[in-house]
Amino acid sequence: MENEEIQIPTNHPRAESLRIRETLIRYWKDHHIVADSGLIAHGRGEAFDYLIGETTIPPAQEATTAAAAHLLLARKPVISVNGNAAALASKELVKLSHLSGAALEVNLFYRTRERIEAIGNLLYEAGASKVLGLGDDNSHAIIPELNSGRRITDRSGIFSTDVVLVPLEDGDRTEALRKLGKIVLTIDLNPLSRTAQTASVTIVDNLVRAIPNLVSEVNRLKSEDKQEEKCRKIVDRYDNGRILADALNFIQRRLSVLSERAL
Ligand code: ATP
Ligand code: MG
Repeated sequence: MENEEIQIPTNHPRAESLRIRETLIRYWKDHHIVADSGLIAHGRGEAFDYLIGETTIPPAQEATTAAAAHLLLARKPVISVNGNAAALASKELVKLSHLSGAALEVNLFYRTRERIEAIGNLLYEAGASKVLGLGDDNSHAIIPELNSGRRITDRSGIFSTDVVLVPLEDGDRTEALRKLGKIVLTIDLNPLSRTAQTASVTIVDNLVRAIPNLVSEVNRLKSEDKQEEKCRKIVDRYDNGRILADALNFIQRRLSVLSERAL
């Protein structure tokens, strides 16, 4: 099986979803970038992607605009990168970092030296100019109240940032980062997760669609006149509770239509 390419018929109804699975498996098996539990977490996300119709829904688009505005307003934004995010979107994450001025920091729940280095190398290969979170103990700062590897952060990165984008986060850390007063932007297909519920901005979408969308929103906002004023207005009007309600209502309506069709 090693390195064997699985042929996915292009007309398969779940071709894109299967292609993403194969990518994750390759980064798990060959590159040791994705953790075992990363594969399972992806399955949880896939189930919700099925429910939203594997497309970017309007509340996700709105949240993406707010996230882009936060990144542009931030004093010192950081993008936290884990194994799944690196495997699925390394090039787009680097693009987002360059465009928004956000630093990239490797931060892992299942932290091993091998995975940290592999993810750092992947980001450098994708064009990153600097990656935080790879360093020795001198650059570490501990986030209180956390037990997983994610408590170890870079002193000049997540630890001191005002705005952090945490794609595919776990609930404990989102809560801890919020308690530290940070603005937390997340991408999570499950609008019911603790991450989704406690973040400042939740993009209910697949990471593979959400990061390129964020890149285009940052680009769009950067080209506007009175950029800062416009971004401020966007974040002031934004209400994450309503976005989550809209996402749940979208799923509810879609299921009603589908269940009527099945009768
Ligand atoms: P929480 O800890 O926030 O309560 P959880 O315990 O239900 O969440 P975890 O396994 O900790 O879930 O985290 C995985 C999360 O990532 C899930 O909510 C899942 O929906 C989401 N997810 C997985 N893959 C993707 C993806 N490709 N794009 C967006 N979200 C994803
Ligand atoms: Mg969790």
